[in-house]
Amino acid sequence: MYRSWAYIPEVEQSAKVPQWVADLPTSTTGAANSVLAYGAGRSYGDSCINTDGKLIDTQQLRHFISFDVDTGVVTAEPGVTLDQLLRLTVPKGWFLSVTPGTSYATLGGALANDVHGKNHHCKGTFGHHVKQFKLLRTDGQELVCSENENPDMFKATIGGMGLTGIITQITISLQAIKSANMTVSTQPFVGLFEYLKLSKISNQQDQYSVAWIDCMSGDMEGFKGLFYSANHAKTGELAYDEAQSSLSAPSIIPSYLLNKYSVTAFNKLYYAKNKGNKSGINQGYHSFFYPLDKVANWNNIYGKKGFYQCQFILPLDQNEVFDQVFTKIRQSGMGSFLTVLKEFGVYESAGMLSFPRPGICLAMDFSNRGNSTMKLLKDIEHLVINAGGSIYPAKDKLMSAESFRHCYPALDDFKRYVDPGISSNYWRRVSG
Ligand SMILES: Cc1cc2nc3c(=O)[nH]c(=O)nc-3n(C[C@H](O)[C@H](O)[C@H](O)COP(=O)(O)OP(=O)(O)OC[C@H]3O[C@@H](n4cnc5c(N)ncnc54)[C@H](O)[C@@H]3O)c2cc1C
Repeated sequence: MYRSWAYIPEVEQSAKVPQWVADLPTSTTGAANSVLAYGAGRSYGDSCINTDGKLIDTQQLRHFISFDVDTGVVTAEPGVTLDQLLRLTVPKGWFLSVTPGTSYATLGGALANDVHGKNHHCKGTFGHHVKQFKLLRTDGQELVCSENENPDMFKATIGGMGLTGIITQITISLQAIKSANMTVSTQPFVGLFEYLKLSKISNQQDQYSVAWIDCMSGDMEGFKGLFYSANHAKTGELAYDEAQSSLSAPSIIPSYLLNKYSVTAFNKLYYAKNKGNKSGINQGYHSFFYPLDKVANWNNIYGKKGFYQCQFILPLDQNEVFDQVFTKIRQSGMGSFLTVLKEFGVYESAGMLSFPRPGICLAMDFSNRGNSTMKLLKDIEHLVINAGGSIYPAKDKLMSAESFRHCYPALDDFKRYVDPGISSNYWRRVSG
């Protein structure tokens, strides 16, 4: 059964599972129900769910077409996961130019959400490294899309949440690496201004940076955090780093065990354990990029009711809104286990509806406590929208059509490229 990563909406769907691209329906024009491609279901909200229609699970479409070891250009089917790709390319000295925080996402899902990584300030998003893809429309038409061929459809599909057609083949360019290891430094800091100083210095010398913060530990000037910066190591083996999960979360944990006291205790422990990390240590790429992949089904820790992730970006001149957001969280009595801060660079979006833009991005997880959690998230949504910020569709389940229009002013233009035979729960909610 198929559902979203955060178990919200609390629905499970079945799907068609084509084994080969040729098994995809040649045309669904006139069908009563819409279809939607499903990657690996690593989206938290309802953008990968289509309860009024059908899902097409693309995970078996995982064949490689070509890989040029001299230029680092690889062509593959959309169901290839990032981990499967790295297994092939790392031993040859090539790494993803941009990767999200899970290696289980598929190429199709990464393109459709135009995912970002910890190197937005210097490499932009996944879409900036897509050279070409093939797109199957539900009327049976197959389009080749690149910056030169069908360029508008190219821009609409990158970050287009699967709504423009089914991607059947993708060509991306990789970055050269000399080692599979990462050289990582950790610096404790206090408050947003200290974070911004560290980020500014790091942006000039490091390819990757991200901060973990304890948003319960103080206001904008008082919260504690750990700033991680990293680069690909210059020496070491070019060996594939096994993604296998070494731990597994129990299938049912009573949700009452997750409360502000346990979250506060977890955050304090995490900070105490990591604040003394040595700087410049070498570690495998997996533990730096994909720490959560080590715990299989970690999304189970939130219990049957699931959880909400809230990820938003604020323009740089709207820092005081972080204070208001933290105050709302403290007043709500809820806490976020995992809160991550990242400064995005000045890059023009690769896609019409891409989420990343210049500013500071914050991501938080909240256990689902029903109305009180929804109220907190709605309050945050209003603060973010009023400050000219934006919310990430891959993580969202609540945004209103009005807020979506504020975040994504290219919406009307985008609608011209939507395939009439495709829809999702997300799209029905935000497209008005
Ligand atoms: C632990 C974790 C960490 C994460 N970290 C980050 C991060 O750092 N940065 C970030 O940007 N995201 C991050 N994410 C979110 C995740 O990377 C995205 O949601 C990604 O799109 C998931 O890919 P998927 O293959 O699971 O696609 P799904 O979630 O199954 O689908 C996502 C979208 O892609 C569409 N789609 C999938 N395949 C195709 C296809 N063949 N053709 C057309 N459309 C298709 C679907 O219709 C849907 O709209 C994280 C998620 C997790 C669980």
